[in-house]
Amino acid sequence: MYSRSKELFERAQLSIPGGVNSPVRAFRQVGGTPLFIKKAKGAYLFDEDNNRFIDYIASWGPMILGHAHAPVVEAICERAQHSTSYGAPTELEIQMAELIISMVPNVDLIRMVSSGTEACMSAIRLARGYTGRNKIIKFEGCYHGHADSFLVKAGSGLATFNIQTVPGVTAGVANDTLTCAYNSLAAVQQLVYDNKDEVAAIIIEPVAGNMGCILPAPGFLEGIRALCDEAGIVLIFDEVMTGFRLAPGGAQQRFGIDADLVTYGKVIGAGMPVGAFGGKREIMECIAPLGQVYQAGTLSGNPIAMIAGYTLLTELKNNPNIYTELDAKTETLHKGLNTALQNCGMPFQINRLGSMISVHFSDHPVVDFATAAACDIESFKRYFHHMLQQGIYLPPSAYESWFLNNALTKEDIAHTVAATQTFTP
Ligand SMILES: *Cc1c(COP(=O)(O)O)cnc(C)c1O
Repeated sequence: MYSRSKELFERAQLSIPGGVNSPVRAFRQVGGTPLFIKKAKGAYLFDEDNNRFIDYIASWGPMILGHAHAPVVEAICERAQHSTSYGAPTELEIQMAELIISMVPNVDLIRMVSSGTEACMSAIRLARGYTGRNKIIKFEGCYHGHADSFLVKAGSGLATFNIQTVPGVTAGVANDTLTCAYNSLAAVQQLVYDNKDEVAAIIIEPVAGNMGCILPAPGFLEGIRALCDEAGIVLIFDEVMTGFRLAPGGAQQRFGIDADLVTYGKVIGAGMPVGAFGGKREIMECIAPLGQVYQAGTLSGNPIAMIAGYTLLTELKNNPNIYTELDAKTETLHKGLNTALQNCGMPFQINRLGSMISVHFSDHPVVDFATAAACDIESFKRYFHHMLQQGIYLPPSAYESWFLNNALTKEDIAHTVAATQTFTP
Protein backbone atom coordinates (compact mmCIF):
# COMPACT_ATOMS: atom_id res chain seq x y z
CA MET A 1 0.00 0.00 0.00
CA TYR A 2 2.88 2.38 0.81
CA SER A 3 5.66 0.79 -1.24
CA ARG A 4 6.74 3.92 -3.08
CA SER A 5 6.70 6.01 0.13
CA LYS A 6 8.85 3.32 1.76
CA GLU A 7 11.30 3.44 -1.11
CA LEU A 8 11.45 7.24 -1.02
CA PHE A 9 11.91 7.30 2.75
CA GLU A 10 14.91 4.93 2.47
CA ARG A 11 16.39 7.10 -0.25
CA ALA A 12 15.67 10.36 1.63
CA GLN A 13 17.60 9.14 4.66
CA LEU A 14 20.78 8.96 2.58
CA SER A 15 20.80 12.69 1.85
CA ILE A 16 18.51 14.37 4.43
CA PRO A 17 18.90 13.98 8.24
CA GLY A 18 16.25 11.45 9.26
CA GLY A 19 14.82 11.70 5.76
CA VAL A 20 12.79 14.82 6.55
CA ASN A 21 13.16 18.59 6.64
CA SER A 22 11.09 18.97 9.83
CA PRO A 23 11.17 16.31 12.56
CA VAL A 24 7.49 15.51 13.21
CA ARG A 25 7.09 14.49 9.56
CA ALA A 26 9.22 11.41 10.25
CA PHE A 27 6.32 9.57 12.01
CA ARG A 28 8.66 8.67 14.88
CA GLN A 29 5.98 8.89 17.57
CA VAL A 30 3.43 6.80 15.69
CA GLY A 31 5.93 4.54 13.90
CA GLY A 32 5.71 3.34 10.32
CA THR A 33 6.65 5.08 7.10
CA PRO A 34 5.92 8.74 6.52
CA LEU A 35 3.79 9.31 3.45
CA PHE A 36 5.45 11.09 0.58
CA ILE A 37 2.89 13.38 -0.95
CA LYS A 38 2.49 13.76 -4.67
CA LYS A 39 -0.31 16.29 -4.80
CA ALA A 40 -3.36 17.61 -3.01
CA LYS A 41 -6.66 19.17 -3.97
CA GLY A 42 -9.37 20.51 -1.68
CA ALA A 43 -9.61 18.34 1.42
CA TYR A 44 -7.60 15.45 -0.06
CA LEU A 45 -3.97 14.44 -0.11
CA PHE A 46 -2.61 11.92 -2.61
CA ASP A 47 0.57 10.06 -1.79
CA GLU A 48 3.16 8.66 -4.20
CA ASP A 49 1.34 5.30 -4.16
CA ASN A 50 -1.82 7.09 -5.31
CA ASN A 51 -3.66 6.54 -2.03
CA ARG A 52 -6.17 9.25 -1.20
CA PHE A 53 -6.47 10.69 2.31
CA ILE A 54 -8.85 13.12 3.96
CA ASP A 55 -6.44 15.72 5.32
CA TYR A 56 -6.78 16.95 8.91
CA ILE A 57 -3.40 18.71 8.95
CA ALA A 58 -3.94 21.26 6.20
CA SER A 59 -0.18 21.87 6.06
CA TRP A 60 -0.48 22.55 9.84
CA GLY A 61 -3.03 25.25 9.22
CA PRO A 62 -2.48 27.30 6.06
CA MET A 63 -4.85 25.34 3.80
CA ILE A 64 -7.88 26.66 5.62
CA LEU A 65 -9.90 26.74 2.38
CA GLY A 66 -8.45 23.49 1.08
CA HIS A 67 -5.45 22.63 -1.08
CA ALA A 68 -4.74 24.22 -4.45
CA HIS A 69 -7.46 26.78 -3.82
CA ALA A 70 -7.99 28.19 -7.33
CA PRO A 71 -7.77 31.96 -6.63
CA VAL A 72 -4.51 31.47 -4.70
CA VAL A 73 -2.95 29.26 -7.38
CA GLU A 74 -3.94 31.66 -10.15
CA ALA A 75 -2.58 34.68 -8.28
CA ILE A 76 0.75 32.93 -7.70
CA CYS A 77 1.09 31.90 -11.35
CA GLU A 78 0.27 35.34 -12.63
CA ARG A 79 2.64 37.10 -10.24
CA ALA A 80 5.51 34.72 -10.96
CA GLN A 81 5.61 36.02 -14.54
CA HIS A 82 6.97 39.29 -13.16
CA SER A 83 9.92 37.68 -11.34
CA THR A 84 9.95 35.94 -7.98
CA SER A 85 11.87 38.50 -5.93
CA TYR A 86 13.32 42.02 -6.18
CA GLY A 87 14.86 42.81 -2.78
CA ALA A 88 13.13 46.20 -3.02
CA PRO A 89 9.75 47.45 -1.81
CA THR A 90 6.53 46.72 -3.68
CA GLU A 91 3.00 48.12 -3.48
CA LEU A 92 1.79 44.62 -2.70
CA GLU A 93 3.54 44.77 0.68
CA ILE A 94 1.58 47.89 1.59
CA GLN A 95 -1.66 46.21 0.51
CA MET A 96 -0.83 43.21 2.67
CA ALA A 97 -0.02 45.38 5.71
CA GLU A 98 -3.19 47.46 5.22
CA LEU A 99 -5.29 44.32 4.87
CA ILE A 100 -3.94 42.80 8.09
CA ILE A 101 -4.42 46.07 9.96
CA SER A 102 -8.02 46.19 8.73
CA MET A 103 -8.62 42.68 10.06
CA VAL A 104 -6.76 43.12 13.36
CA PRO A 105 -7.61 46.59 14.69
CA ASN A 106 -5.01 46.71 17.48
CA VAL A 107 -2.13 46.15 15.05
CA ASP A 108 -0.79 49.61 14.19
CA LEU A 109 2.33 48.52 12.31
CA ILE A 110 3.34 45.13 10.96
CA ARG A 111 6.58 43.68 9.63
CA MET A 112 6.68 40.64 7.34
CA VAL A 113 9.19 37.80 7.77
CA SER A 114 9.47 34.32 6.26
CA SER A 115 8.41 31.96 9.08
CA GLY A 116 6.63 31.77 12.42
CA THR A 117 9.98 31.15 14.08
CA GLU A 118 11.35 34.41 12.75
CA ALA A 119 8.22 36.27 13.80
CA CYS A 120 8.42 35.07 17.42
CA MET A 121 12.18 35.46 17.64
CA SER A 122 11.93 39.04 16.37
CA ALA A 123 9.02 39.89 18.68
CA ILE A 124 11.06 38.77 21.69
CA ARG A 125 14.09 40.81 20.62
CA LEU A 126 11.82 43.79 20.13
CA ALA A 127 10.21 43.37 23.56
CA ARG A 128 13.66 43.19 25.13
CA GLY A 129 14.85 46.25 23.23
CA TYR A 130 11.73 48.19 24.14
CA THR A 131 11.72 47.35 27.86
CA GLY A 132 15.48 47.12 28.42
CA ARG A 133 14.84 43.85 30.29
CA ASN A 134 16.23 40.38 29.53
CA LYS A 135 13.91 37.65 30.75
CA ILE A 136 10.88 36.20 29.06
CA ILE A 137 8.13 33.95 30.34
CA LYS A 138 6.74 31.15 28.21
CA PHE A 139 4.41 28.29 29.04
CA GLU A 140 5.33 24.61 29.22
CA GLY A 141 4.22 22.84 26.06
CA CYS A 142 3.85 26.04 24.02
CA TYR A 143 5.91 26.11 20.85
CA HIS A 144 7.07 29.40 19.40
CA GLY A 145 9.42 28.11 16.72
CA HIS A 146 12.97 26.86 17.08
CA ALA A 147 14.87 30.02 18.08
CA ASP A 148 17.20 29.34 21.04
CA SER A 149 15.13 31.22 23.64
CA PHE A 150 12.08 29.09 22.97
CA LEU A 151 13.59 25.62 23.13
CA VAL A 152 12.79 25.26 26.80
CA LYS A 153 9.81 22.98 27.59
CA ALA A 154 8.65 23.62 24.06
CA GLY A 155 5.92 21.05 23.33
CA SER A 156 5.24 19.87 19.78
CA GLY A 157 8.17 18.16 18.08
CA LEU A 158 10.32 18.29 21.20
CA ALA A 159 7.59 16.58 23.22
CA THR A 160 7.12 14.06 20.42
CA PHE A 161 10.80 13.13 20.66
CA ASN A 162 10.99 13.56 24.44
CA ILE A 163 13.75 16.15 24.18
CA GLN A 164 14.20 17.88 27.55
CA THR A 165 17.15 20.18 27.00
CA VAL A 166 18.47 21.01 23.59
CA PRO A 167 22.21 20.64 22.95
CA GLY A 168 23.41 23.81 21.28
CA VAL A 169 21.29 26.17 23.36
CA THR A 170 23.60 27.87 25.86
CA ALA A 171 22.74 27.96 29.56
CA GLY A 172 22.84 31.75 29.39
CA VAL A 173 20.05 31.86 26.85
CA ALA A 174 18.03 29.11 28.54
CA ASN A 175 18.32 30.88 31.90
CA ASP A 176 16.61 33.96 30.53
CA THR A 177 13.57 31.87 29.60
CA LEU A 178 11.29 31.28 32.58
CA THR A 179 8.51 28.73 32.24
CA CYS A 180 5.36 27.83 34.04
CA ALA A 181 2.31 25.64 33.51
CA TYR A 182 -0.34 26.70 31.01
CA ASN A 183 -3.55 27.80 32.72
CA SER A 184 -1.82 28.47 36.08
CA LEU A 185 -2.33 32.18 36.60
CA ALA A 186 -1.02 32.08 40.17
CA ALA A 187 2.25 30.54 38.95
CA VAL A 188 2.75 33.32 36.37
CA GLN A 189 2.03 35.97 38.98
CA GLN A 190 4.60 34.37 41.29
CA LEU A 191 7.23 34.28 38.52
CA VAL A 192 6.70 37.96 37.77
CA TYR A 193 6.87 38.80 41.47
CA ASP A 194 10.10 36.77 41.92
CA ASN A 195 11.69 38.48 38.91
CA LYS A 196 10.54 42.01 39.59
CA ASP A 197 11.44 44.47 36.79
CA GLU A 198 13.33 41.78 34.89
CA VAL A 199 10.64 40.32 32.67
CA ALA A 200 10.48 41.86 29.19
CA ALA A 201 7.70 39.74 27.75
CA ILE A 202 5.17 37.02 28.33
CA ILE A 203 4.64 35.02 25.15
CA ILE A 204 1.70 32.67 24.88
CA GLU A 205 -0.36 30.69 22.41
CA PRO A 206 -3.83 32.07 23.25
CA VAL A 207 -5.15 28.62 22.34
CA ALA A 208 -2.31 26.13 22.67
CA GLY A 209 -1.94 23.89 19.65
CA ASN A 210 1.41 22.25 20.24
CA MET A 211 0.44 19.79 22.97
CA GLY A 212 -2.76 18.82 21.25
CA CYS A 213 -5.36 21.56 21.37
CA ILE A 214 -5.63 23.17 24.81
CA LEU A 215 -8.01 25.97 25.65
CA PRO A 216 -7.24 28.85 27.99
CA ALA A 217 -9.28 28.52 31.19
CA PRO A 218 -11.82 31.31 31.76
CA GLY A 219 -9.99 34.33 33.17
CA PHE A 220 -6.50 33.02 32.38
CA LEU A 221 -5.72 35.30 29.43
CA GLU A 222 -7.49 38.22 31.11
CA GLY A 223 -5.36 37.66 34.22
CA ILE A 224 -2.17 37.67 32.16
CA ARG A 225 -3.24 40.84 30.39
CA ALA A 226 -3.80 42.57 33.75
CA LEU A 227 -0.49 41.28 35.10
CA CYS A 228 1.42 42.61 32.08
CA ASP A 229 -0.23 46.02 32.46
CA GLU A 230 0.69 46.15 36.14
CA ALA A 231 4.30 45.07 35.70
CA GLY A 232 5.13 46.89 32.42
CA ILE A 233 5.58 43.59 30.57
CA VAL A 234 5.00 43.26 26.82
CA LEU A 235 2.25 40.71 26.19
CA ILE A 236 2.88 38.72 23.01
CA PHE A 237 0.14 36.54 21.57
CA ASP A 238 1.69 33.91 19.34
CA GLU A 239 -1.10 33.61 16.79
CA VAL A 240 0.92 31.57 14.32
CA MET A 241 -1.77 28.87 14.57
CA THR A 242 -4.79 30.85 15.71
CA GLY A 243 -4.33 33.94 13.52
CA PHE A 244 -6.92 34.18 10.73
CA ARG A 245 -8.10 30.71 11.79
CA LEU A 246 -10.25 31.29 14.86
CA ALA A 247 -11.69 34.51 13.42
CA PRO A 248 -10.58 37.16 10.90
CA GLY A 249 -8.97 38.90 13.89
CA GLY A 250 -7.70 35.63 15.38
CA ALA A 251 -7.78 34.72 19.07
CA GLN A 252 -7.65 38.39 20.03
CA GLN A 253 -11.02 38.89 18.40
CA ARG A 254 -12.40 35.58 19.61
CA PHE A 255 -11.58 36.36 23.24
CA GLY A 256 -11.83 40.15 23.08
CA ILE A 257 -8.33 40.62 24.49
CA ASP A 258 -5.65 42.82 22.94
CA ALA A 259 -2.02 41.77 23.15
CA ASP A 260 0.78 44.35 22.76
CA LEU A 261 2.50 42.37 20.01
CA VAL A 262 1.11 39.56 17.87
CA THR A 263 2.97 37.03 15.75
CA TYR A 264 1.62 35.30 12.67
CA GLY A 265 2.58 32.43 10.39
CA LYS A 266 0.83 29.48 8.74
CA VAL A 267 -2.54 30.83 7.42
CA ILE A 268 -1.01 34.25 6.68
CA GLY A 269 1.05 32.80 3.81
CA ALA A 270 -1.54 30.41 2.31
CA GLY A 271 1.17 27.74 2.26
CA MET A 272 4.05 29.99 1.21
CA PRO A 273 6.85 30.69 3.74
CA VAL A 274 5.47 33.77 5.51
CA GLY A 275 5.42 35.09 9.05
CA ALA A 276 4.75 38.51 10.52
CA PHE A 277 4.89 40.39 13.79
CA GLY A 278 3.03 43.54 14.60
CA GLY A 279 1.30 45.53 17.28
CA LYS A 280 1.42 48.81 19.13
CA ARG A 281 3.01 51.70 17.28
CA GLU A 282 5.17 52.76 20.23
CA ILE A 283 6.77 49.32 20.43
CA MET A 284 7.00 48.64 16.69
CA GLU A 285 8.76 51.97 16.16
CA CYS A 286 11.79 50.55 17.98
CA ILE A 287 12.49 48.33 14.95
CA ALA A 288 15.15 49.36 12.41
CA PRO A 289 15.24 51.58 10.38
CA LEU A 290 13.08 53.65 12.80
CA GLY A 291 14.80 52.35 15.92
CA GLN A 292 17.84 50.43 17.07
CA VAL A 293 16.36 46.92 17.31
CA TYR A 294 17.75 45.30 14.18
CA GLN A 295 15.67 42.90 12.15
CA ALA A 296 15.87 42.15 8.43
CA GLY A 297 15.25 39.58 5.70
CA THR A 298 16.41 39.20 2.10
CA LEU A 299 13.15 37.54 1.08
CA SER A 300 10.84 39.29 3.56
CA GLY A 301 7.69 40.49 1.82
CA ASN A 302 8.49 38.28 -1.16
CA PRO A 303 5.98 39.03 -3.93
CA ILE A 304 4.91 35.42 -4.54
CA ALA A 305 4.43 34.82 -0.81
CA MET A 306 2.58 38.12 -0.44
CA ILE A 307 0.17 37.54 -3.30
CA ALA A 308 -0.67 34.08 -1.96
CA GLY A 309 -1.35 35.37 1.55
CA TYR A 310 -3.11 38.49 0.32
CA THR A 311 -5.47 36.50 -1.88
CA LEU A 312 -6.37 34.08 0.91
CA LEU A 313 -6.78 36.73 3.63
CA THR A 314 -8.93 38.87 1.32
CA GLU A 315 -11.31 35.96 0.90
CA LEU A 316 -11.36 35.29 4.65
CA LYS A 317 -12.10 38.94 5.33
CA ASN A 318 -14.83 39.27 2.72
CA ASN A 319 -16.60 36.05 3.60
CA PRO A 320 -16.89 35.68 7.38
CA ASN A 321 -19.35 32.80 6.78
CA ILE A 322 -16.26 30.69 6.27
CA TYR A 323 -15.69 30.79 10.03
CA THR A 324 -19.27 29.86 10.82
CA GLU A 325 -19.04 26.95 8.40
CA LEU A 326 -15.70 25.76 9.73
CA ASP A 327 -16.95 25.95 13.31
CA ALA A 328 -20.08 24.00 12.42
CA LYS A 329 -18.08 21.29 10.64
CA THR A 330 -15.71 20.96 13.55
CA GLU A 331 -18.59 20.79 15.98
CA THR A 332 -20.18 17.99 13.92
CA LEU A 333 -16.87 16.15 13.98
CA HIS A 334 -16.55 16.71 17.73
CA LYS A 335 -20.01 15.31 18.45
CA GLY A 336 -19.48 12.37 16.11
CA LEU A 337 -16.09 11.47 17.57
CA ASN A 338 -17.52 11.78 21.05
CA THR A 339 -20.19 9.17 20.33
CA ALA A 340 -17.88 6.93 18.30
CA LEU A 341 -15.13 6.87 20.91
CA GLN A 342 -17.59 6.06 23.69
CA ASN A 343 -18.24 2.81 21.84
CA CYS A 344 -14.54 1.97 21.99
CA GLY A 345 -14.78 1.86 25.77
CA MET A 346 -11.59 3.74 26.57
CA PRO A 347 -11.25 7.04 28.35
CA PHE A 348 -10.72 10.01 26.05
CA GLN A 349 -10.86 13.79 26.00
CA ILE A 350 -11.74 16.00 23.06
CA ASN A 351 -10.64 19.62 23.17
CA ARG A 352 -11.90 22.05 20.56
CA LEU A 353 -12.16 25.69 19.73
CA GLY A 354 -13.29 26.85 16.31
CA SER A 355 -11.61 24.65 13.71
CA MET A 356 -8.88 23.37 16.05
CA ILE A 357 -9.57 20.04 17.73
CA SER A 358 -7.66 17.15 19.27
CA VAL A 359 -8.30 13.77 20.83
CA HIS A 360 -6.34 12.69 23.90
CA PHE A 361 -6.69 9.22 25.40
CA SER A 362 -6.95 10.03 29.08
CA ASP A 363 -9.49 9.98 31.88
CA HIS A 364 -8.38 13.43 33.07
CA PRO A 365 -9.19 16.78 31.48
CA VAL A 366 -6.21 17.93 29.40
CA VAL A 367 -5.46 21.50 30.44
CA ASP A 368 -1.67 21.84 30.32
CA PHE A 369 1.49 20.01 29.32
CA ALA A 370 1.56 17.70 32.36
CA THR A 371 -1.96 16.43 31.68
CA ALA A 372 -1.21 16.14 27.94
CA ALA A 373 1.95 14.14 28.64
CA ALA A 374 0.06 11.81 30.99
CA CYS A 375 -2.14 10.59 28.11
CA ASP A 376 -1.97 7.13 26.60
CA ILE A 377 0.36 7.59 23.64
CA GLU A 378 0.17 3.89 22.64
CA SER A 379 -3.57 4.18 22.07
CA PHE A 380 -3.08 7.33 20.03
CA LYS A 381 -0.54 5.51 17.92
CA ARG A 382 -3.00 2.68 17.20
CA TYR A 383 -5.78 5.18 16.52
CA PHE A 384 -3.55 7.08 14.10
CA HIS A 385 -2.74 3.97 12.07
CA HIS A 386 -6.31 2.73 12.17
CA MET A 387 -7.44 6.06 10.70
CA LEU A 388 -4.66 6.13 8.12
CA GLN A 389 -5.79 2.72 6.87
CA GLN A 390 -9.27 4.13 6.45
CA GLY A 391 -7.89 6.97 4.33
CA ILE A 392 -7.74 9.64 7.04
CA TYR A 393 -4.57 11.61 7.62
CA LEU A 394 -4.29 12.87 11.22
CA PRO A 395 -1.26 14.64 12.69
CA PRO A 396 1.33 11.91 13.37
CA SER A 397 1.70 12.89 17.03
CA ALA A 398 -0.58 13.16 20.05
CA TYR A 399 1.02 16.55 20.71
CA GLU A 400 -0.44 18.27 17.68
CA SER A 401 -3.78 19.90 17.02
CA TRP A 402 -5.87 18.88 14.02
CA PHE A 403 -6.81 21.67 11.61
CA LEU A 404 -10.03 21.55 9.63
CA ASN A 405 -10.30 23.06 6.19
CA ASN A 406 -13.46 24.34 4.61
CA ALA A 407 -13.22 22.03 1.61
CA LEU A 408 -14.18 19.12 3.91
CA THR A 409 -17.65 17.81 3.08
CA LYS A 410 -20.31 16.34 5.36
CA GLU A 411 -19.44 12.97 3.85
CA ASP A 412 -15.75 13.38 4.73
CA ILE A 413 -16.67 14.09 8.32
CA ALA A 414 -19.17 11.24 8.43
CA HIS A 415 -16.49 8.91 7.05
CA THR A 416 -14.06 10.10 9.75
CA VAL A 417 -16.62 9.40 12.45
CA ALA A 418 -17.51 5.99 10.96
CA ALA A 419 -13.81 5.06 10.82
CA THR A 420 -13.44 6.01 14.49
CA GLN A 421 -16.44 3.86 15.32
CA THR A 422 -14.56 0.75 14.16
CA PHE A 423 -11.44 1.54 16.22
CA THR A 424 -10.72 -1.21 18.69
CA PRO A 425 -8.05 -0.30 21.23
C1 LIG B 1 4.26 26.55 13.81
C2 LIG B 1 4.39 27.48 14.96
C3 LIG B 1 5.49 28.35 15.08
C4 LIG B 1 6.67 28.27 14.16
O1 LIG B 1 6.37 28.61 12.86
P1 LIG B 1 7.35 28.11 11.68
O2 LIG B 1 6.78 28.76 10.46
O3 LIG B 1 7.28 26.63 11.69
O4 LIG B 1 8.70 28.62 12.00
C5 LIG B 1 5.47 29.27 16.09
N1 LIG B 1 4.45 29.35 16.95
C6 LIG B 1 3.38 28.52 16.88
C7 LIG B 1 2.26 28.67 17.84
C8 LIG B 1 3.34 27.54 15.90
O5 LIG B 1 2.30 26.71 15.85
